[in-house]
Amino acid sequence: MLVTDWPHAIAHVDADCFYASCELARRPDLRNRPVCVLSSQDACVVAKTYDAKAAGISTGMPVWEAKKRLPQAEYIPADFGYYGQMSDKLFAILARFSPEIEVYSIDEGFIDLHGLRSLWRKGYGEIANAMREAVRRETGITVSVGVSVTKTLAKIASEFNKPDGTTIVPGRRIAEFLARVKARDIPGIGANREALLDKFGIATALQFIEADEALISKLMGRSGTDLRHELRGERVFALELEPRLPKSIARTASLGEIIASRETLAAHLTHHTTRVATELVTKRYMAAKLAVFLRLKSFDSASVEIRLDYQTSSYFALSRVVQAALERLYQPGQLYRGCGVIASEIRFAASVTFDLFGVMEQDGRQGTLLETMDEINGKYGSGTVRMLASLPVKRHEKARRFNYPLFEAD
Ligand SMILES: [Mg+2]
Repeated sequence: MLVTDWPHAIAHVDADCFYASCELARRPDLRNRPVCVLSSQDACVVAKTYDAKAAGISTGMPVWEAKKRLPQAEYIPADFGYYGQMSDKLFAILARFSPEIEVYSIDEGFIDLHGLRSLWRKGYGEIANAMREAVRRETGITVSVGVSVTKTLAKIASEFNKPDGTTIVPGRRIAEFLARVKARDIPGIGANREALLDKFGIATALQFIEADEALISKLMGRSGTDLRHELRGERVFALELEPRLPKSIARTASLGEIIASRETLAAHLTHHTTRVATELVTKRYMAAKLAVFLRLKSFDSASVEIRLDYQTSSYFALSRVVQAALERLYQPGQLYRGCGVIASEIRFAASVTFDLFGVMEQDGRQGTLLETMDEINGKYGSGTVRMLASLPVKRHEKARRFNYPLFEAD
């Protein structure tokens, strides 16, 4: 066991009922009412406020059952585009506290605070409180923060005092803390493993770390011994600072009709380009390659792939390339049924978002334009604000896409 307090300092920040909190942030009229956020087909509950939870509503519960239990709750369809924007805001705030952040999910991150006490002239508990306060003030949602010496301990700590709480677990107080944590509350231990551990007299996290390593290895293999080390304050898992990047970002669609008009194709391509650029900007990506294709009536396609002069997320740079590609591909008299834009060789614009001192990207103003458009469209429905050149594209409601893995948001 550790005999020092801070060989490392990792914070885990976790938003409280994230999706429901996002809805409350833009609908103050819903405050003090139970809120349930529904899955894309409105089939089941994907998130709920604490009062809805207290009334027996669980994540994954079918809507009809939830409504039977709690008819007075507000039931809201999920809006993942908006939650993505709120997530971007959350991480932009956290990035001011440390340049080393792992975006773990849409509403959870690990932040390496080691060595930053002297920079901020604050203890870890005060830094954690400052993070909570900044998020609350600037987004209207609350987060809970755990700070400890490993990722696993920090994650358990953030769960310990929810909502809107800070829990600090220095190295010398690990045993005292883990005595109060059930084995079931260790990340990675589900009902089956809980039952198995229970047979060997392991009911608390403290009993788990005091058990023989060979026993844990026999019961849970490598993942068990890794957890045991992490819970003893011995770091196994490093922060993953580089997020996994998508291979490409594609926006393609049928035209909904068979057409020959170059202007109509140009409008659809503008629409697709806007959406590709928006995704690049909001996720802080840049692309180095662009492909444009036109699908013919015959289902053949004509395409061109262009290497960009420099990595960009700029709508205007991408649009120039796309419209030039259309000039090359378009054949008068030919009939078309679809088109698309695909950005690839995606890189993270790391120096842009996670720069501790907030240096702006070169065409930051343009990024802001797209983000603002995206924000408005997130609030008032997709297509509310669009690039003028895409106006001929018929406005239609697209099925919402899951941009993030669905986590239980509470
Ligand atoms: Mg959460």
